Amino acid sequence: MAETKRYTGGCHCGRFEFEVDTDLSTAIACNCSICTKHGLVLTFVAPEQFTLKKGTQGELTKYQFNKKVIDHLFCPHCGVESFGTGKMPDGKTMFAINVRCLEGVDMTTLRPTPVDGRKF
Ligand SMILES: [Zn+2]
Repeated sequence: MAETKRYTGGCHCGRFEFEVDTDLSTAIACNCSICTKHGLVLTFVAPEQFTLKKGTQGELTKYQFNKKVIDHLFCPHCGVESFGTGKMPDGKTMFAINVRCLEGVDMTTLRPTPVDGRKF
């Protein structure tokens, strides 16, 4: 059931809050090393679908690994990675939103599509 809705989300301590327009039927669960350790369920959106309402991107701690094409961004205070950002193969910027950090989402009804990120 595809439906784009507006969600609010953020880190645990509240220093960072954002709004995102996304369709959670597109959510993915990736098995790469970092997604496994964080238990990440992600939804990918274009920059115009994402607005940081509280905090600035530069205040987040950046972590990169492997090909270093994705900025994993986490709150320096509470340590939660509520979103990350990177470039798609076509060069466009995208935001990867941690669905577990969105308000009002029932994770038990979500069926994220498995993605084999380990092979990349
Ligand atoms: Zn925080």
